[in-house]
Formats: sequence, C-alpha cells, structure tokens
Amino acid sequence: MDFFPIFLNIRNKSCLVVGGGAVAERKIALLLKSAADVVLVSPELTHDLTTWRDMGRLNHQARGFQDEDINDRHLVIAATDNAEINRHIAELAHAKRIPVNVVDQPELCSFIVPSIIDRSPVVAAVSTGGASPVLARLIRSRLESLIPAGYGRLADLCNRFRQRVKDHFSKPEDRRLFWDRVLEGGVAERVFSGHDEEADQLMERLLADPRLDQEMGEVYLVGAGPGDPDLLTFRALRLMQQADVVVYDRLVAKPILEMTRHDAEHVYVGKERDKHAMRQEEINKLLARLAKQGKRVLRLKGGDPFIFGRGGEEIDTLAAEGVPFQVIPGITAAAGCATYSGIPLTHRDYAQSVTFVTGHLKDGSMNLNWDMLAQPNQTVVFYMGLVGLPVICRELQAHGVAGEMPIALIQQGTTHMQRVFTGTLENILETVERERPKPPTLIIVGHVVELQEKLAWFEAPPHSEQGATSPVDF
Ligand code: SAH
Repeated sequence: MDFFPIFLNIRNKSCLVVGGGAVAERKIALLLKSAADVVLVSPELTHDLTTWRDMGRLNHQARGFQDEDINDRHLVIAATDNAEINRHIAELAHAKRIPVNVVDQPELCSFIVPSIIDRSPVVAAVSTGGASPVLARLIRSRLESLIPAGYGRLADLCNRFRQRVKDHFSKPEDRRLFWDRVLEGGVAERVFSGHDEEADQLMERLLADPRLDQEMGEVYLVGAGPGDPDLLTFRALRLMQQADVVVYDRLVAKPILEMTRHDAEHVYVGKERDKHAMRQEEINKLLARLAKQGKRVLRLKGGDPFIFGRGGEEIDTLAAEGVPFQVIPGITAAAGCATYSGIPLTHRDYAQSVTFVTGHLKDGSMNLNWDMLAQPNQTVVFYMGLVGLPVICRELQAHGVAGEMPIALIQQGTTHMQRVFTGTLENILETVERERPKPPTLIIVGHVVELQEKLAWFEAPPHSEQGATSPVDF
C-alpha cells in the first residue's frame, strides 16, 4: 500500500485551499461537509464558491498565494492551474510537515483524496493510490448501488443503542450475534423503509426478550420488471438477496429468479391462464403465515406490483394481520415494452395521454369503457389482451376508430425473446394467425406505433427463439 488510509478530524481546523476553479470547488465542498474552517486564496472564484463566500461559509482572500498563507494550517490543498506555484506550495507544506494535496500531481502529495460514498456517519472511501481517479469513481458508483441510502440512519440507531446492548450482553460473542441479526433483519429494513420509530420499538422488544426467533418476519412485495434483469431497482435486488423465502409466479423471468438467494426456499404459486396453482386468498394467507414464522418473505411479481398485479389485495391481508411489509415498484410491462420496441407512449404530435387497461376476457367479453378508449389523440395499452384481441379490434372499430389505426403486439418485451408485430386494427389478426405470438404479450393501440420502425433500437439476438439458451420460461 502506498498510502495509509485514515479519516481525519478537521472540524473547526484551519485548512488552506489555493485556487478558485472547479477542482478547488469540489475539494472545498468536502472540507465544508467535514466542518473545516476554510481559507481560500485565489484572485478568481467559480459561481458556487462566490455564493459560499457571500454566505460566510469560507474566508476568501482575493489575491495570489503568499508564503505566509501556509502558517498555522492543518491541511493544505494546492489547486491552481500553475504547476510551478503548486510545487512551491507543496514544498513549503512539506517543510512544515503540514499534510498537502496537489491536484493532479500525486508525486507531490502527502495525502490523496479518495472517492467517497457518503452515508454519514457511514463513509466508504475508494482510492487507487492516485493511479486512476476515473477507476476510483467507477468502483465508487458500483458501491453506491450496493449501500442503501438509509445506512446513515442505521448507523445512528446503532450508536443510540450501543451502550445498552453492551450492558445487556456481557459476552462479545453474544453481542456480535445480536448486532448481526439487527443489521440484517427487520430492524434494518424498518430503517431503510423510513420507519425509524418502529425500528426503535423493535430494538426495545429484542432487548427485553432476546429470544430472537420470536421476531416477526416481513414481506417484501417486489416488482421484478418485465424481464430484463438490468431493469431491477437497487432495492429490489438487495431484498431479493436477503429473503429467506421466495414466493413467485409465472411472469417472473428465470434469470431474475436466479438472482435470489440460492439457499432460500422457493414457492411457486401459479398462475397460468385459467389454471391457478394457488388461489389468490391462499397466496395472501401464505405470505402472512410465513412472515409470522419470522421469515423474510419475498413476493416477487412481474412488472409493477400495483399495476394489474393484485399487489393491493396481497398487502391488504398483511395490513389486516399486522404483518410488516414494504412494496418496491418495478418497471411495468407498458413502460418496458414501449421503450424496448421504440414506441413512445405519449408524443406531442400523436398522443396527449395514455391509458392502461386489462384486456382479460370474462365470459367472452371485456367490460370496458369503449367510448373513452376510442377517443383520438391517445394511446391505449392492453395488458392480458392476446386472447381477447379479436374483441379489442372489433369494439374499437365499432366505437368509431378507423380500421387503419396502427397497433403493435410486443411479445416477451425486454427479454431475448422479444418480438414486435405491427399492423392495423383491420389486419393484425392475420399476422397473429401467421406468427402466433407467445404470451406474455402487450398490445399498444395508437398513432405512436407509426414511430416504431424509426425508433426501434433493441434487437433480440437471432435464434433465441430456438430456446436452448432461452433465458425466459413462461
Ligand atoms: N404487474 C404486471 C402486469 C401483470 S398482468 C406489470 O406491471 O407489468 C400480465 C400481463 O402483463 C400480460 O398478459 C402481458 O400483457 C403483460 N406483460 C407482462 N410482462 C410482459 C412482457 N415482458 N412482455 C409483454 N407483455 C408483458
């Protein structure tokens, strides 16, 4: 290691920055975050630096560097655009044993400034020893996605309870086990979902009765998006990797399922059209029962849980039975399929609104407000509409939509099996007859479909239809 990693306390300590450009500004922002007393020497300032000076946040000397500037500083940053001046400042600082950083000249630095992930009081720092700031930033952004935004508040909670936990468990081993459970269990999740008060209550309960198996579990109702695993949210991925039980149905793509914990219990609950593996009420009860056994239950849903996903019904039961839960949005099929096929759902020239409806057939018909759906200047998206497509085409025309109205069918959107079929209300059924799209398929009706040919960007790889490496198994 070329550098010794430390975190320095510079609260109310006098720190000198020479230079008033963009780089100085970034360093000063960090110094101010750490509550340093900043003295800035520079004839000119950026807009933000001027604002901070006017707010009284830093002491600005509007002139060039003078040797005395270095006296009595705890830290020096040389950020002028003149390499000679920077070198001179560094030499003075070295002579006085003051830690000094020279921008872009690692050989002159006695310390370097890492890329940081700030979840104060938790701070993670990444350094490449000055070799590549860009690489450091890249690693930083990877870590950024792994460390939930709530870690700062979680650390505050640990701080609040630290002494009491210490008093409670005399053996360090027991203490460690207790904290492990807190940081990976319900308490941490309560904090991440913004329920700090509940988290505190749960800590109290755990301290009063540390038989940890009594702890109530939780249900994570997670939207898995339309199929491409890259479209998962950070939070979805984190919860997927921590759940003890995974309750999933047909619409969840296999590669996504494979991202859940491998040692988790997996429960398949349906549903194929008219062939429900488990009735909805049974699923609702199952979720509550598992959570009450203390398990962290992942209910994984295709798309978004609150859009034709029965998410509302599932958490209704949980709420009634006092089971904690959180709901994580996912990219709904309409958004995923539209973008991956190159069909903007709204467009100033074609559609001022978009409507999502279910095209599910009940007793051979669809109970929809066809007059509304036949209005011009809008896009209508039908979920679950493949079987009912003849009804959709017939009813729209019967309510005044022209037979030439463009329509698109997107099969298994966003996945390597995606196929897009376009046509008109008059002729799309012939295409379906010929091409036989496979479910799940989304239907988009509106003039925006005309843009598809021009705006399409995503290509499913050829031959994926043959399936040997097919990532999806609906
Ligand atoms: N909650 C889900 C929708 C469930 S209803 C969401 O927000 O996306 C199931 C219907 O969604 C399917 O019949 C189909 O119309 C649509 N759908 C889901 N995933 C799809 C995909 N990858 N490609 C095309 N349509 C999809």
